[in-house]
Amino acid sequence: MPIPVTCRCGTTYNLRDEYAGQVVQCPKCAARIELPAPPVLARQPQADPVFDRDVFLLRQKHLAISEKYTVGDEQNRPILFVQRPVYLARGCLAVLAAVLAFFAVGILVVVLADFMPHEALRVAFIVLGIFVAIAAVVVVLVALQPKRHVYFYRDASKQEQLLEIRQDRKFMPIVQTFTIQDPAGNVLARLRKNSLTDFFRKRWQCFNPDGSLRCIIKEDSLILSLLRRFLGPLFGILRTNFIICEGQTERVIGEFNRKFTILDRYVLDLKADPARTLDRRIALAIGVMLDTGERR
Ligand SMILES: [Zn+2]
Repeated sequence: MPIPVTCRCGTTYNLRDEYAGQVVQCPKCAARIELPAPPVLARQPQADPVFDRDVFLLRQKHLAISEKYTVGDEQNRPILFVQRPVYLARGCLAVLAAVLAFFAVGILVVVLADFMPHEALRVAFIVLGIFVAIAAVVVVLVALQPKRHVYFYRDASKQEQLLEIRQDRKFMPIVQTFTIQDPAGNVLARLRKNSLTDFFRKRWQCFNPDGSLRCIIKEDSLILSLLRRFLGPLFGILRTNFIICEGQTERVIGEFNRKFTILDRYVLDLKADPARTLDRRIALAIGVMLDTGERR
C-alpha cells in the first residue's frame, strides 16, 4: 500500500510503503517530512507454541522405508517428527492377491474360450479376457492397498500427535486431494492438485473447510518450470522452488526452497506473512506434501 504524503508546500506524493517510519526530503522545497510508522500487525495465535514461528527446516530421512521427517527450527533444532508409514505386509498381500486374481480370470477365460463356436470369436473372447484380467489386477491392488496418511508428532517417541494429513481416496490418478486435520478430527484445510496441468507448472490449491480458496502453491516461474522439464535440475541451478500465494490477493506469503547451504534442508520460509495469517500447521502440511509428492 503506497503512503500518500502532502508536504507543507502543498506538493503531494505517493511513497512506497518501505519508507514508512522514515524521514524523507521534499524534492521541491527540501522540507523534511516524517512518514508515519508502519502498522504493527497483531500476530495470529497458533494452535501450539511449536508452530509459532516463520521458518521451518524439513528433511526427509531417505534411508527409512517409511518416509520420516524431522522438522527443525531456524537453528535446526528438532521441533517435530513426521511420518508417512508404508504398510509393507499389506502391500505384499495386495500384490499376491492381484496375481491370484489375474490367474483366476485367465484360467476362466481359457476354459470358456473352448466353448466359442468360431475361431475369430474365440480370439476376440481371449483379448477381452486379457483386459478383464488386467482390470481385476487394478481393482484388487487399489482395494487392498491402504491409504497413506501423514502424521505429525511432538517427537520421535510418537506419544503426542499434533497434526494429520489424510489421503482422501486410494486411487487418485489425475486429481489428488488431501485433508489437513488436527488430532481431534477438525478439518483445517484441504489440498488439491491436478497431475495433468503439472507438466507446465506444478501447482497445488489449498481450500478452507467452507470450500473457499485459501492459498495457491506453485512453481516460482513458468519459464523456469518449463526449462526444468526439458533440462532437468541442471546441477541444481534449476532446482524447483515453490511460492505460496494468498488465494484472493495473489500476494506471496511464503516460499519452499531447497537450500544446499544448510545441510541440504528444505526451507519453509513464511517471513512474508509476519502476522501469521496462514495457520502454520497448514503451511507445514503443504511443505511435507511438496517434498513427498513432488520428486525433485
Ligand atoms: Zn515541499
